[in-house]
Amino acid sequence: MVDYNGSIPLNAVCRFHRSGSIVGVCTDCGAYLCPQCALQYGDMGVKCPDCMAKAYKAQISEHEKHKRTNWILLAIGSFYIVLTVILGIYLALNADRLYSTPTQNPDMEMWGNPVILGLMAVVYILLSLGFPFGIRQVIRTVRAMPTIVVVFSVLFFAVTIGLLVSVATIIGWVCMLSSFAATAKEKKQAAALKGFLSAQGYQV
Ligand SMILES: [Zn+2]
Ligand SMILES: [Zn+2]
Repeated sequence: MVDYNGSIPLNAVCRFHRSGSIVGVCTDCGAYLCPQCALQYGDMGVKCPDCMAKAYKAQISEHEKHKRTNWILLAIGSFYIVLTVILGIYLALNADRLYSTPTQNPDMEMWGNPVILGLMAVVYILLSLGFPFGIRQVIRTVRAMPTIVVVFSVLFFAVTIGLLVSVATIIGWVCMLSSFAATAKEKKQAAALKGFLSAQGYQV
């Protein structure tokens, strides 16, 4: 049963049946509604059948739009992965030509382990797939923030960078002088050590 506390004219009739007792008014179009036509679903207000159908179509088209966007974002992520995989394969096949010296760095030996390589590829693919969604979330969050906060953050960031650059500029010459002084001191210390060694009969 629909609760309707508004005033309904005595001669009001259901828009769809032209008769009957009126129990509600459509919250969208204002039509007077009989018990049969006053539809209530979930937390939606009372609606006539036409407006309820419109609400459904709006829901469906929103859903279709979201689904489409999801697939577009997923496609962008996949495209990015395919590009990097092609690039990776190209680099691997042409490693001899592109890198004149083979990698000797022990830190790089883990790349030769197929299990680690496979795991990292999986992690990379998962991260890359979700990346466009993450970007969208960041943009949404920024847009949901009050403009003043965004402007202030950007300004504050610029001010911070500007301050750091200014401070670096101001103290730069002091840093330069002390750096040269430090190397001069190193040279002196090394000479003293050499003197000590040669006093002990060692030539370096
Ligand atoms: Zn309606
Ligand atoms: Zn009706």
